[in-house]
Amino acid sequence: LIELRGVNKHFGALHVLRDINLTVGRGEVVVVIGPSGSGKSTLCRTINRLETIESGHITLDGRPLPEEGRGLAQLRAEVGMVFQSFNLFAHKTVLANVSLAQIKVRKRGREEADRRSRELLERVGLAAHADKYPAQLSGGQQQRVAIARALAMDPKALLFDEPTSALDPEMINEVLEVMQQLARDGMTMLVVTHEMGFARSAANRVVFMADGAVVEDRSPEEFFTAPSSDRAKDFLSKIL
Ligand code: ATP
Ligand code: MG
Repeated sequence: LIELRGVNKHFGALHVLRDINLTVGRGEVVVVIGPSGSGKSTLCRTINRLETIESGHITLDGRPLPEEGRGLAQLRAEVGMVFQSFNLFAHKTVLANVSLAQIKVRKRGREEADRRSRELLERVGLAAHADKYPAQLSGGQQQRVAIARALAMDPKALLFDEPTSALDPEMINEVLEVMQQLARDGMTMLVVTHEMGFARSAANRVVFMADGAVVEDRSPEEFFTAPSSDRAKDFLSKIL
């Protein structure tokens, strides 16, 4: 579904993505891990074109990513992104946050959008909070609203960039459970996370990045029991 071939990117002299080859098949969950600064966020951002690339090809469903204009809004609807900071509109209710892009980008009427929003809020366990404002919710609840908002666009795939890193420990699981459920429902997902339990239980593949390159791309069983590179061994010894 998502394919990167020979992707390169620099920030000035810094080579942040080095010849990246990566495929995320339909219904697959790929977890990306690696040290800080290894290019994980940049990788995510290139896939929905928040960052441009200098060489290589990225395709979605076999088609190159759109360059600009209307195609970009469509792309960002089809490939939703969930960030570490939830980026909700503070002055809009939870329901309005989930409905807004459905109305603007998907051109749904308000009633239809609100109906769909309520279904999705139910799915992430927040049906009772539809009329609250983001500040009245916990971090874990806000992140689940952000997930509902991404789902409301009927995306082909979701990108998660450290979705639980800003959360207090007791709220991490409620977000991971929603993500586990999405994985079971067959959502195509690329997930940057340090939650190794999630990687072990939900990932089809683990991609380990270091210095802008994909160093390992294998099943979680293989990766966690017998990482082949010294970089991965070193990384795992520090975090496990
Ligand atoms: P972390 O685990 O800390 O989130 P990461 O793996 O997501 O790290 P990136 O955010 O992709 O890493 O950054 C890769 C490198 O590119 C880092 O050295 C970072 O400082 C640099 N970088 C990222 N964004 C920019 C930018 N807009 N301009 C210049 N350099 C940048
Ligand atoms: Mg990052």
